[in-house]
Amino acid sequence: MKVIILGSATSTGVPIIGCGCPVCTSANPRNKRTRCSLFVEAGGKNILIDTSTDLRCQALRHGITRLDAVLYTHSHADHTHGIDELRVYNFVNKTSIRCYGNAQTIDNIKNNFKYIFDGVESAGGKPKLTLTVVSGEFDFEGVGITPVDVYHADWTILGYRIGGMAYLTDCSGIPDWSWDKLRGLDVLIISALRYQPHPAHLNVEQAVEVANELKPRLTVLTHMGHELDYDTLSKELPDSIVPAYDGMELELPNP
Ligand SMILES: [Zn+2]
Ligand SMILES: [Zn+2]
Ligand SMILES: [Zn+2]
Repeated sequence: MKVIILGSATSTGVPIIGCGCPVCTSANPRNKRTRCSLFVEAGGKNILIDTSTDLRCQALRHGITRLDAVLYTHSHADHTHGIDELRVYNFVNKTSIRCYGNAQTIDNIKNNFKYIFDGVESAGGKPKLTLTVVSGEFDFEGVGITPVDVYHADWTILGYRIGGMAYLTDCSGIPDWSWDKLRGLDVLIISALRYQPHPAHLNVEQAVEVANELKPRLTVLTHMGHELDYDTLSKELPDSIVPAYDGMELELPNP
């Protein structure tokens, strides 16, 4: 199983348009973050988690020429606004793309992108997508996928576990019933927005606390804002916790 961090930024991306702060003006390529998304190649299937605003440039950068499924964490703009790019994969795959999410996410996607699902043929093309609400563990063509409820302010959204990897973005807390789904991980990818607390996101300290509780072999912090400088944060973290960067690749055993 191969995992690629396609994007490691919070909703604004880093650099932020118009910002002159040291991270936004940094020459370090690891401080250049596109919107948060993950690519997983498992059991010969190509699985995308979220269609970020930057999906097109991410797919080109990594030569992702085929997609078998999209797992949505939630419907916020930074995680969904690349949805129209899925149209291109319809040409390649010659079939509708299967997309999964919880009931709220699927509902919001249908409302927010009404043109895709209204059944009206327009002059321009639109993506062909099959939306499925997931409530528990499911099998996607031989790949076992476990949705994991996490809090995102007052929303309950989904993280996903595939084999020894779990991806929890836009997490502000983990409900009691989700912890057991996250035991025995090889790699935990979890959001850490900044140093200061935030109502909708874990900060660095809180993400480290989750890592200390779950004790995966490696924890990767993602969905980072411009408050976090890659090199500074790397030095501050313990050996088993690292900041993500765009293009970071991880190899794990197949689930
Ligand atoms: Zn987000
Ligand atoms: Zn900045
Ligand atoms: Zn969000």
